[in-house]
Amino acid sequence: MYKKTVLVSAGPTREYIDPVRYITNPSSGKLGYKIAEVFLKNGWDVILVSGPVNLTVPNGVRMVKVETADEMFKAVKKFYNKADVFISCAAVCDFKPKKNYKQKIKTHKLTLQLVPTVDILEYCGKHRKEGQILVGFALETDIKNSISYARKKLVNKNLDFIVVNSVETFNSNFIKPTILYRSGKILKFKKMSKLSFAMVLFKLVNEIISEKK
Ligand code: C5P
Repeated sequence: MYKKTVLVSAGPTREYIDPVRYITNPSSGKLGYKIAEVFLKNGWDVILVSGPVNLTVPNGVRMVKVETADEMFKAVKKFYNKADVFISCAAVCDFKPKKNYKQKIKTHKLTLQLVPTVDILEYCGKHRKEGQILVGFALETDIKNSISYARKKLVNKNLDFIVVNSVETFNSNFIKPTILYRSGKILKFKKMSKLSFAMVLFKLVNEIISEKK
C-alpha cells in the first residue's frame, strides 16, 4: 500500500547578527513535534524540519535540524516534492539582519537594518503539485484583525486551510485555535492540549484527502 508522506516544519528560526547574537522568537516547537508524532503513529512517513528546540525527536521520524530561515527553506525545498502534505508550523522569523557580521561586533552603538526572510510557505503555495495539501499557521497580537490578516495569508500563500492562534500558544502545552478554509468555512475550537489538536489536524487533513479523491 502507498505510504503517504507529511512534511512538518517546527520551532523558531535564528537570524544571526554576528556569530554570537541573533534574532529569534519564543516558539517551543511543541505543536510541530506532536503533529509529527500523530502522523507517524498513524502509519505515515514523517519528515520534520525543525529550528532549534529542546524536544525529543519521536523515534522513526526523519529529522532535519536547521537554524536560519534560509536553511529551513533549503530543507523544505529538498523534501517538498515528495510530500503529500506540508504542515508549516514553524515560527519562521519574518526579518533578518541585512548584514551578517563575520566577527563579534565590538561597538556599543549600532543600528540594525532588517530585511524580509524568504517566505517558505508562499514558495510552496506557488509550486504546489496537483493534490498536494498545504496547511499554514498565523499568530497575531491584534486579535480584532487576526481573522482578516489570516484570510489574506490563506489566499496569498495558496493554502487549504490556516490555523489562527494567539501569542499565549508560545511555549504552552495548550492551544485555542480557529481554522479558516478557502471556502469561507470557519472552525472554532475550545482550548485544548497540543496533542489533541494534532489529532484534530490529522483528521481534517484526511477529510481533505478523501474530498480530493
Ligand atoms: O506571514 P506570517 O509569518 O504570519 O505567516 C505564517 C505562516 O507562514 C506560518 O505557517 C509560517 O510557518 C509560514 N512562514 C514561512 N516563511 C516565512 C514566514 C512565515 O514559511 N518567512
